[in-house]
Amino acid sequence: MRIAVVGTGYVGLVTGTCFSEMGVHVTCVDIDQDKIDRLNQGIIPIYEPGLERLVHKNVKSGRLHFTTRLEDVLNDVDIVFSAVGTPPDEDGSADLKYVLDVAHTIGKHLNHYIVVATKSTVPVGTARKVKEVINEELSRRGVDIDFDVASNPEFLKEGDAVKDFMSPDRVIVGVESERARKLMARLYKPFMIVNDRLIYTDIPSAEMIKYAANSMLATRISFMNDIANLCELVGADVNMVRKGIGSDTRIGKKFLYAGCGYGGSCFPKDVKALIKTAADHGYPMRVLQAVEEVNHDQKLVLFHKLVKYYGGEEQLRGKIIAIWGLSFKPETDDMREAPSLVLIDLLLKAGATVRVYDPVAMDECRRRIGDSVTYAANRYDAASGADALMLVTEWKEFRLPNPETLKGTMRGHLILDGRNILDGNELQQEGFEYHCIGK
Ligand code: NAD
Repeated sequence: MRIAVVGTGYVGLVTGTCFSEMGVHVTCVDIDQDKIDRLNQGIIPIYEPGLERLVHKNVKSGRLHFTTRLEDVLNDVDIVFSAVGTPPDEDGSADLKYVLDVAHTIGKHLNHYIVVATKSTVPVGTARKVKEVINEELSRRGVDIDFDVASNPEFLKEGDAVKDFMSPDRVIVGVESERARKLMARLYKPFMIVNDRLIYTDIPSAEMIKYAANSMLATRISFMNDIANLCELVGADVNMVRKGIGSDTRIGKKFLYAGCGYGGSCFPKDVKALIKTAADHGYPMRVLQAVEEVNHDQKLVLFHKLVKYYGGEEQLRGKIIAIWGLSFKPETDDMREAPSLVLIDLLLKAGATVRVYDPVAMDECRRRIGDSVTYAANRYDAASGADALMLVTEWKEFRLPNPETLKGTMRGHLILDGRNILDGNELQQEGFEYHCIGK
């Protein structure tokens, strides 16, 4: 089987690589010439555990290729996946420009039957638009070529993307023809040997499933952050509450961790886009509006704790604040909508000096905010001379710092743990003032 995957970002590169690992001939396409050149030189543009080895292996085997020209491979494949970005527009809706650009290219060059499967997260009705655009281009050329559209939303998690793709909980395939269903079933067959987790739906439902799934997960996080803030006021401990409610099988243990807000390339934009879709249909998504509001405020919680400790924002001028963790979550260098960016901005505006450390996202941070902060060589170097330390991303290497080393290197004694992963008792015994979320 031969496929093309258009858009070679977090989703497209993982998708293309994992299909090639299963024996499929894959061409990954991107308009970013530099990205394609680097991939052709064996340089992986993102940090994702396990990905580099698989890319190299499958390129070597001759099954994985990279190009900027979809038109060169279009008529040599059975399925084209569209995995391009769908960033939020100014009004919160998903910007479909890139998805429709791909549809135009397909319509301009198609000359045999294919399935056009959208992997990007797109609002209900997008597959229909893709179909219209391809048909417009075909009729402009005066040709009549059969093709199908399909919706195949992606559920991988950055940081665990390869594992998630290779062993998915489920694969959602929205189709409207038996021919398309059979082709998609064949492509996914190698992933379903042990347990068939393919779920077929109509196309609008497949498009909605992705938004509903991300919105549900974001809701759990904001709900727990709300509970955490209340725990602080009434003297309860959100970690105990989490264990208590998570043991109820109807609730389950996952996605119940309080923290300093969710970020990333998906939850914030997908929640916004679903609210906008609903608004366009005259329906207010009241729960999701609250989810967003809570998350917006939660990204400020560590800053408010810092200001409270020092007795006013003006007291932050000249202070040195260390930040551990920049990426929006561990095991990725992705900083889209990262809570660290909000904090850094507030700290700099208040006149503080910021020293940061992240195991993999330092280059990405420099690309985004330049040298407005000091980039430390490691976690202790970041804490060196700092008045306060804020833990923002729960990287494993931050879990067990040596309290004596920290004490020896820091100027002040305040530690704000935005992910509740440090041992507060141990730090307090060493003389630190320790605050976390929801306790
Ligand atoms: P990304 O920004 O990392 O990658 C998108 C790529 O598409 C870029 O490399 C860009 O150059 C390329 N592109 C844009 N227009 C193009 C065109 N016309 N032809 C070829 N390439 C083009 O984005 P991502 O994080 O991989 O997300 C892609 C989609 O998948 C989004 O809709 C996102 O919501 C969804 N998604 C993302 C994740 C995630 O964890 N990142 C998970 C599930 C779903």
